[in-house]
Amino acid sequence: MSQQPNYGFPFVEDPNDFIPDVESCTPEEIEAHRLACATYGKPEYKEPNNGCLAARDEKGGLAIMTRTSWGIGTNLISVCDECGEPFGNLLTCHECGGREFCENCWPLHEKRHDEGREP
Ligand SMILES: [Zn+2]
Ligand SMILES: [Zn+2]
Repeated sequence: MSQQPNYGFPFVEDPNDFIPDVESCTPEEIEAHRLACATYGKPEYKEPNNGCLAARDEKGGLAIMTRTSWGIGTNLISVCDECGEPFGNLLTCHECGGREFCENCWPLHEKRHDEGREP
């Protein structure tokens, strides 16, 4: 499976796919992220990342990005092993030892197996 690092505000759903930048995060943000990792997938997980809070400026115009609960750092996004595009839902081919494909590449990949063109 391929993962691409992407620096910035957290936008991944799974906190384990986000690595807070200890240089730029407050201890509270690090702690919130640590808790999120520990409870992810469990009932006590309360979506601790509130996302990028958008704030309006004085004139009610442009939205300004403020901090997120997990601060800032590196997102690890899964990318399709075939086309390299980041997709949320990748299909894993166990015949190939866990290569992952997007919904566009998957049928083509399966076809190659059917035709015996994939090792
Ligand atoms: Zn693809
Ligand atoms: Zn395969």
